[in-house]
Amino acid sequence: MAKPWESYQAVYVHIPFCVHKCAYCDFASYQIYNEHIMSDYARRLAEEISACTPALPVSPHATVYFGGGTPSVLPLDAMEAVVTALKERGFWQQPAEATLEANPGTVDLDKLQFYRQLGFDRLSLGIQSFQPAELASMGRVHTAEDAEAAIALAREAGFRRISGDLIYGYPGQTAASVRDSLERLLQTGVDHVSVYGLTVEEGTLLAKQVREGTAALPPEDETGAMYDFLMEALPQAGYQRYEISNFARPGQASRHNQVYWHYDPYLAFGAAACRFDGICRETNPRNLTAYLRGEAPEREELSPEIRREELVFMSLRTAKGLSLAEFRQRTGSSFFPLYKEAFAACAERGWIAREGDRIHLTERGMQYGNLAFEEFL
Ligand code: SF4
Repeated sequence: MAKPWESYQAVYVHIPFCVHKCAYCDFASYQIYNEHIMSDYARRLAEEISACTPALPVSPHATVYFGGGTPSVLPLDAMEAVVTALKERGFWQQPAEATLEANPGTVDLDKLQFYRQLGFDRLSLGIQSFQPAELASMGRVHTAEDAEAAIALAREAGFRRISGDLIYGYPGQTAASVRDSLERLLQTGVDHVSVYGLTVEEGTLLAKQVREGTAALPPEDETGAMYDFLMEALPQAGYQRYEISNFARPGQASRHNQVYWHYDPYLAFGAAACRFDGICRETNPRNLTAYLRGEAPEREELSPEIRREELVFMSLRTAKGLSLAEFRQRTGSSFFPLYKEAFAACAERGWIAREGDRIHLTERGMQYGNLAFEEFL
C-alpha cells in the first residue's frame, strides 16, 4: 500500500493581502486593497499552478488550504480562477477537506455561499479576542460582534466545520479577559479552536511598542494563568487537544495541518509559499513584485539528519506523537540508539512518555514544547 509520505497529501495556496496589518503579524501579508494587484496575483497563481510538474503523485485525497494574509479579501472572480486552475491540474479532487482562512468583517452570506459552491467545506476564522480594547490594540479590523455574525453566517451558508483562533499573552490581556473571550467563542458552537501564545516578532509594530514601552506584555504568572485556564476549559467543553495549539470536537481535527505534522509532502503556491517533496524544500519569493515577475523559488535539499530531526519534532507536536516502527521505516534507523539521551532528559522532567510503539509529549511536555524539541536537535 502506498505510504502517505510517498505522495503529496496537501495543497496550500497563499493569498498575501490584508485590509490592515496587525501589530503583531510577521506573516507574508501586505496591506494592499487594490483589485488590480489582486487580479494580477490570481493570474500569476493560476499560471504557477498550471505550469507545476510535481515531483511526486498528488493524492486524490489531498487537502486544500487557502491561507494568508486574508484569502477572503480576494475578489470572487479571482478566487474562482485560482480554484479552477487547481481543479484542472488535478490538484483539488473532490471530495477533499478544503479550508479557507477568513477574517470576520470581510465576509457576507453571498461570499460564504460562493465559497461553499467552489467546494470549500471548512472555514478558519482569525478572531483572536472578543474584547474591544484588545482587538483595537492588535490592529484587528473587526469587532467581537462581527466574529459572532461571521460564524452564524457561515453556518447559514452550510459550513459544518468552523474553526476560531484566539491569542493569549497579548499586552493588556488578563486571565479574566481571556476567559471571557473563550466563553464567547464557545457559545458560538465552533467545531475547532486554535489558541496561540503570543510571540513578539522582530520587525513588527508590536516589537517596536514593547521596545519603546508603549505596550507591556502581561506578567509571566498572568500568562501562565491564561494558559492553565485554556488547557483546562477546552477539554472540559469537549474540545480534545490533538496538537500543542489545536483543539477539536470529535472528527473536527484539521486534516490539512496533520499532513505537516506527519511530515508528509505538500505542494504550495503563491508568494512566500513553501512546498516539500520529502527531501527538498522550495520557497517562492516573499516579495510580491518578485513573485509576480516569476522569479525562481529558493531550493534547499535537506540532509537525512535534518529530515530525521524534523520528523521527530513535527510528530511530537501532536498528541498521538511518533510511531517508532514508522520512524524506522521512514529513516532506516531505530529511534532509541539515536535519541536515547534526549528521550531520557525529557522523561526525567516528565515531558515525554512511551506507550507501546509510540512516544508522545505529556501535557507538561507540550507546555514546554520548544525546550523539549531542543533536546532532539
Ligand atoms: S489578518 Fe492575519 S495575516 Fe493579516 S495582518 Fe492580521 S495577523 Fe497578519
